[in-house]
Amino acid sequence: ELSKQAIGQFRFFEKQMNRTIYEKIHMERELRKALEAEEFELHYQPQIQLQTGKVIGIEALIRWKHREKGMISPNAFIPIAEETGFIISINEWVMETACRQTKLLLHQYPSLSVSINLSPCEFESRKLIYKLAKILEKTDFPPHCLDIEITERMTMDTEKAIPILKELKNVGVNVSIDDFGTGYSSLSYLKKLPIDRLKIDRSFVQNVQKEEEAILPAIITLGHNIGVKVLAEGVETELEAAYLKEKQCDEVQGYYYTRPLPYGELVQFLDQHKQQASAIIS
Ligand code: C2E
Ligand code: MG
Ligand code: MG
Ligand code: MG
Repeated sequence: ELSKQAIGQFRFFEKQMNRTIYEKIHMERELRKALEAEEFELHYQPQIQLQTGKVIGIEALIRWKHREKGMISPNAFIPIAEETGFIISINEWVMETACRQTKLLLHQYPSLSVSINLSPCEFESRKLIYKLAKILEKTDFPPHCLDIEITERMTMDTEKAIPILKELKNVGVNVSIDDFGTGYSSLSYLKKLPIDRLKIDRSFVQNVQKEEEAILPAIITLGHNIGVKVLAEGVETELEAAYLKEKQCDEVQGYYYTRPLPYGELVQFLDQHKQQASAIIS
């Protein structure tokens, strides 16, 4: 997925780990210019229900289509955007674009849901709920078709997290815990969190045949015991998919089904998939 150019770019950003204040200012300026020049774009990765094979959702993943450097992966600029706080502006664009583009699909796929990723500083921002409500209104988007992905780490301070999660529930959106299993959740507090879904980190899926085999079914059971759906991320092989189905995992996402797709290709994917699903039923 990454072009040579993008890998070069990634190294370029990596070298900035020891960023000076000037470098940060420079990077923020670059990101600001990119936003203004409409160089960001969303790709969407379908999420599939294992029992039916139906596409039940899509995850919006940002890409930077740089005028000279080509496609830049979010891992190369999200951390910098988080450091400078500019992520707030970027993600406002992400939320609005994801709602606007998904809205166009809802006529044909009324139960489709779109997931967006939140950064820690946004999750804690006092304006989050206000902005979210405003975007939902502006795009006339049904809140129950929006899924907010937060990471386990963002929920660690439960006294802070629970009120925010409750407010999100009041707005009517769903919440998923992303990269689940990589943080240090205590299982006892997990059930106190008003969430809808756990997204098991790819690292557990990769190890289905190895020594960590016991972890994956344990997480699936844990999720079901606390009454939430469980999605496995980064499914790359038929074997992994079959294993997850056998272990009653609800949903999957990964290269085995498809990579994240530009909007136009997503529309085609949904269309083909709909025909396939109806062919199976009839
Ligand atoms: P994430 O939310 O955990 O997203 C999953 C990542 O795994 C995506 O990388 C996706 O392309 C990749 N992936 C999906 N299936 C497979 C697979 O089968 N195998 C492998 N090896 N990888 C797979 P991507 O798009 O590069 O995004 C990386 C991370 O950047 C995301 O991790 C998320 O944390 C962050 N990110 C992406 N878009 C946004 C955004 O709009 N806002 C914020 N705040 N963060 C974002
Ligand atoms: Mg995610
Ligand atoms: Mg993830
Ligand atoms: Mg991740």
